[in-house]
Amino acid sequence: MTKSAYAMITVEEALRMVLAQAQPLPPARVKLADALGLALAEDALAQDPMPPFPSAGVDGFAIRVEDGRAPRAFQGEQMAGVVSGLRVAPGGAVRITTGAPVPPGADAIVMVEVAEEVNGQVILRHLPGAGDGIRPVGQDIRAGEVVLSRGTPLGAAEIGLLATIGKGEVLAHPRPRVAVFSTGDELVEVETALAPGKIRDSNRHALMAAVRASGAEPLSLGVARDNPADVEAKIDEALAAADAVISSGGVSMGKLDLVKPLLERRGTIHFGRVVMKPGKPVTFATIGGKPLFALPGFPVSSLVSFELFVRPALRRMAGHQQVTRPRIRVALAHDVQHDAARTEFQRAVAAYEDGQVVARTTGFQGSGRLLSLVGANVLLVLSAGRGDFAKGETVEALVVGEIY
Ligand code: AMP
Ligand code: MG
Repeated sequence: MTKSAYAMITVEEALRMVLAQAQPLPPARVKLADALGLALAEDALAQDPMPPFPSAGVDGFAIRVEDGRAPRAFQGEQMAGVVSGLRVAPGGAVRITTGAPVPPGADAIVMVEVAEEVNGQVILRHLPGAGDGIRPVGQDIRAGEVVLSRGTPLGAAEIGLLATIGKGEVLAHPRPRVAVFSTGDELVEVETALAPGKIRDSNRHALMAAVRASGAEPLSLGVARDNPADVEAKIDEALAAADAVISSGGVSMGKLDLVKPLLERRGTIHFGRVVMKPGKPVTFATIGGKPLFALPGFPVSSLVSFELFVRPALRRMAGHQQVTRPRIRVALAHDVQHDAARTEFQRAVAAYEDGQVVARTTGFQGSGRLLSLVGANVLLVLSAGRGDFAKGETVEALVVGEIY
């Protein structure tokens, strides 16, 4: 029997170790068009108020409320984007479009739905109150207001706000560049016909997609063959090109599991075994401060260990404060078998049913069966220390996709 040199640690300890090493990348100027999903690295301050001028909130007529319900003399038009120079005189009205500057003299806009112009007269079917239909200066944003604070993740609304306040470029944490390579003599490229003993390299494609989905930038480094020189060359290439490195395969207890000894020699291994299923041999190291994740070769093991350890690290490197997935409680739709020896992350589909979230397994939970991840929007967290679960029990789950 071979014994692993690495202490078995818990998922929580492992995540703590990863987050203790992963540091936010130095901020850089980024064009607004490239900023989606990034974490802002500065406070964004509005120089100008919004709206910057008293602005019509509706289409209608600019009037003076004190003139009462009497018909007004039609004075002309004030469209959006120009300053007409018109002033609303006592007893007068100016046609106005939404977003146009309110002409001086007016204190309300009567909506076009309740007013009309007939032969030079504006007839009101409703008298608005003072200020109605007018968006005052600074109603939405005050001059000098911090509209977004450092650390805010940039989504559509945030990017719109930055555009509003005139920032075409922002200081943000860049997307981590992540080199991804596979290891194994059995691996061939996707479009290669399978010769005896060969399988296609799926991990590299799956992991690169997972990297991209986490907001980072994947770099493909291909496949390292099962010899130390090849693996070391890939590691060197990866370290030169990227902020973080992901390999898959070659970390269990087989004769050709070469990755750990190499990492040991080149840097520091923080952990090499975690009490979890799938993904027990997941390994985390640093070389010169850069994180390297040596993930297990089985496709589900590699993606689940990415989810638990790599994604939080990449989020942290990208400057995000919220780096782990939300946890919720879900009710089991059926009995679930569980080995009390390890924390297990079972793939399931959760859905709202009668006011609670109910989870159903994706079927056979083999570490090689990628189909067990297809459609899975939760990972059931079946903690070590207790065995099987019964239908109707609630368990903790990591939300990894949208719940419908
Ligand atoms: P290993 O961790 O290298 O012992 O690999 C464990 C299992 O995962 C073996 O059945 C490998 O053939 C398989 N495997 C390893 N790397 C990949 C990969 N890149 N794509 C698909 N399967 C893989
Ligand atoms: Mg292998």
